[in-house]
Amino acid sequence: MKSLEQKSLVLLKHHLKALRLPTVASECEKVAARCATDNVDHLTYLLQVLELELLDREKRSAERRLKAARFPTIKTLDTFDFAARPSVNKMLIGELVRCEYIDKRENVLLIGNPGTGKSHLATALAAEACARGYRVRFFRTTELVTALIEARNELSFLRLKAQLAKLDLLVLDELGYVPASKVGAELLFDVISTAYERTSLIVTSNLPFESWIEVLGSERLTGATLDRLTHRCRIIETKGESYRLQDAKARTRQTKRDAVSSAARSGANDKPAGAVDEAPVSQ
Ligand code: ADP
Ligand code: MG
Repeated sequence: MKSLEQKSLVLLKHHLKALRLPTVASECEKVAARCATDNVDHLTYLLQVLELELLDREKRSAERRLKAARFPTIKTLDTFDFAARPSVNKMLIGELVRCEYIDKRENVLLIGNPGTGKSHLATALAAEACARGYRVRFFRTTELVTALIEARNELSFLRLKAQLAKLDLLVLDELGYVPASKVGAELLFDVISTAYERTSLIVTSNLPFESWIEVLGSERLTGATLDRLTHRCRIIETKGESYRLQDAKARTRQTKRDAVSSAARSGANDKPAGAVDEAPVSQ
């Protein structure tokens, strides 16, 4: 009897492997034991193990999407200090988290000085999209342009373009850090216009729109790029100075305040010691 049970179990695990149900395979015995104790019927048992499989499957594919997005660092909205950046509308960010802009193929532009949280917000929003099942890829704009230039005239160019075409959301970080060459600007325009109304873009830039001509070179290309990017888009301005600078200044102020208050405290406490110190002078 025992060996028959053992045999069925081996066969069951084999079938579950063939059907690609790893969680059912690893959990079926534990859940069966629990269901037997709780007097649960067969259908509820089946429901319980399949629910576990589904949850695990969603978790595994979210992890895969996150890896495929290639974020340089993971940032979340929980760690974004909205009070430090009042120009960023928290309500709008809350709305963007729901990813409806991706369903509507709309874009998000984050414009502001270096260090003001543009990449942080772009990464956090894009990671949220990954968690909700969207296909996402993050690029530093210069890296993408370099990859496109290098792949030009080769099969890998088409492969890269095909990869981009499959995305729901493409992040182009730091557009405008380095002026693109004429070819680079044209390839970048090609990416942006291919994405138009098909793939949502999140673009971050430290340049105000009027300066984009410095990156893209020609007035015609700049106009056409901005036209596609800004048609149906949300613009978030991260106004002000660098967060790290702000943070460092706040910490310096705090250290000074701490020093003053500890000096005041030790001044009050050390009075007798001060008197001892002064003693040799008066001697
Ligand atoms: P940008 O892309 O605008 O140059 P980053 O997003 O890279 O700036 O921000 C620089 C650093 O400061 C990052 O480590 C980021 O997490 C942090 N940072 C920026 N703004 C905030 C903020 N409002 N709250 C918390 N951290 C922030
Ligand atoms: Mg950045």
